[in-house]
Amino acid sequence: MRITDIRLGKISVPLIVPFKTALRSVNSVEDVIVEIHTDTGHVGYGEAPPTGVITGDTTGSIIGAINDHIMKVLIGRDVDDFEDIIRAVNGSIINNTSAKAAVDMALWDLYGQLYKIPVYKMLGGSRKSIETDITISVNSPEEMARDAVRAIENGYNCLKVKVGSNPELDIERLSAVRQVAPDALIRIDANQAWTPKQAVNILNRMQEKGLDIEFVEQPVKAHDLEGLKYVTQNSYVPVMADESVFSPLDALKIMQMRAADLINIKLMKCGGLTNALKITSAAEVYGVECMIGCMLEAKISVNAAVHLACARQIITKVDLDGPVLCSEDPIIGGAVFNNKDITVSDEPGLGIKGIEKIRYIKF
Ligand SMILES: [Mg+2]
Repeated sequence: MRITDIRLGKISVPLIVPFKTALRSVNSVEDVIVEIHTDTGHVGYGEAPPTGVITGDTTGSIIGAINDHIMKVLIGRDVDDFEDIIRAVNGSIINNTSAKAAVDMALWDLYGQLYKIPVYKMLGGSRKSIETDITISVNSPEEMARDAVRAIENGYNCLKVKVGSNPELDIERLSAVRQVAPDALIRIDANQAWTPKQAVNILNRMQEKGLDIEFVEQPVKAHDLEGLKYVTQNSYVPVMADESVFSPLDALKIMQMRAADLINIKLMKCGGLTNALKITSAAEVYGVECMIGCMLEAKISVNAAVHLACARQIITKVDLDGPVLCSEDPIIGGAVFNNKDITVSDEPGLGIKGIEKIRYIKF
């Protein structure tokens, strides 16, 4: 199975409602698609969302990294030389983790197809289905309570709430959500909004009010590992590192420092399944549970994350609600998303069969 061509394209998928965080507001998923073609007719699929505010990667930089650097080390290579190829991709350019993630997942897709085995089984195969949380968008407390009721009615039992802009209002919002969802797990994501002392103060007030927060994601700035550690040591709420962890090395450092209780793995931060596996291995050694998360992504890259989550038991938390936030699904094949329940595909590779409405880029 020799790589003959790499085609790049774009897809545009509208969201049901705008997605708002402390950093941005977004109306649709606009992602870069990678197709790796082979002389056997097999195609490997990958996807990368341009999430400039988090990864620094833009549509232009993703396309440029693949077209100008990564493609050169792939054309003509045999997929069976898998490790060699993966190393070549990672050595072809520094950073650019979203572009690398898209290519890495497309290569795993092909490797699975070559040996006729689903990727989640190649990586460990611990389960066939997982349950995701759902994000309740930041709005008035009344609106958020209504959204929470709707989520519970649709079967979700784990809600994720974005916080950070206004602590008093955050507590009001969370109280409204907790009141209508007394049994749900509620996790919050501050997306770097607080100073360490603010974080401890706000989180402890939340717990004193009986909000029973499962964990908080990234309370402080990404680079402030000492601050993260301070929050971890002084808050009643368990702390998850998200923007602080891109590479396996970042994850290892945080675990060695005990700077966080939990780690959020995203393929776009670490550069794909290969590096994500390294993080899960380190986390297994340290006994640090992980969440698998995603950016605003359509189903191709989220599907790859599903394979990883179904492979490894150390991933105990799942935040893969990207596809259910989209108003249409142009992706054929892959995991089945049914509200909170996600079932992995048993087709070889990653199980993606095709993409509708892809706009190919001509060079
Ligand atoms: Mg986060």
